[in-house]
Amino acid sequence: DDVIDQIAAGEVVERPASVVKELVENALDAGARRIAIATAGGGKTLIRISDDGCGIPPDELLLAVRRHCTSKLGGDISLVETLGFRGEALPSIGSVARLTLRSRAEGAAEAAEVFVGNGRCEGPRPAPLSRGTVVEVRDLFHSVPARLKFLKGERAEASAITEVVRRIALAFPPVRFELSGSDRSETVFEPGDLPARLAAVLGSEFMANALEVDAEREGVVLRGYAGIPTYARGNALHQYVFVNGRPVRDKMLLSALRGAYADVMARDRHPVAALFLTIDPVEVDVNVHPAKADVRFRDPGLVRGLVIGAIRQALGESGL
Ligand code: ADP
Ligand code: MG
Repeated sequence: DDVIDQIAAGEVVERPASVVKELVENALDAGARRIAIATAGGGKTLIRISDDGCGIPPDELLLAVRRHCTSKLGGDISLVETLGFRGEALPSIGSVARLTLRSRAEGAAEAAEVFVGNGRCEGPRPAPLSRGTVVEVRDLFHSVPARLKFLKGERAEASAITEVVRRIALAFPPVRFELSGSDRSETVFEPGDLPARLAAVLGSEFMANALEVDAEREGVVLRGYAGIPTYARGNALHQYVFVNGRPVRDKMLLSALRGAYADVMARDRHPVAALFLTIDPVEVDVNVHPAKADVRFRDPGLVRGLVIGAIRQALGESGL
């Protein structure tokens, strides 16, 4: 079972940033409005995520860290609306790190915690916590030296974590995110509307001139903001694309974004954009990879045309 968990971990847990992504998604699935992320050593020594979500009852804590125990799969897998649904993240992380899961379910008299690591499970036992859930991950990959060696330096891993949090923060403007730790300066994204969150994450300079994108084709809706051509970057890092609220890094979508600017931007420059695609869940498969970065559209041509058309129209309307 340990070996199976470690193999599964390879799929879900590549580096500290993927741990942060999974844990923050769990907090969002639990309805959290405030999520605090603390790291040390680029997340290699410590990742701690605290949320004010619905929590987990004491008798479900051990289940949550076992394989394929998800509380989220009600029916058709293609229609899942929560961010997680495989029940793989916590067991996978627990198989390659020391994980403490502490939680107080809504209405529960007290909180409890379980510990997974070093090949054993402990708990549940009573623990102090006034609400929500705290997940602490220590010494990631300490038992898998080959994986540890593969990680980058602390600064690179810390900034990959920042990038994951920025991406998720864009998708959830009403949620407060706090990122802190001994390996970084503190970042807080206060709750607000989408333009406010975009200004906080991408900078008010970007938002000051950004073109509003708002288009629809055959029921597929694209909204968001695209930077003016002069507000371009030397890399494609600041291209944020979301499908039904999930951050994705889909090749087709990113290439469509690029294509939209083909006539107005040098080839070595990259537009800045935050685009939100809303599409009937039956038209899209987000289950291509456990890390859920790629998606498969039933009609990629339609989506590609929508992205290119909508951005070109926005560029055209502003005379660019
Ligand atoms: P999944 O998210 O795919 O269901 P995970 O391994 O990430 O699987 O989590 C297992 C289960 O633990 C979840 O289904 C959920 O019931 C519970 N859980 C995990 N994190 C939290 C959290 N922050 N708040 C409430 N419940 C949580
Ligand atoms: Mg999950």
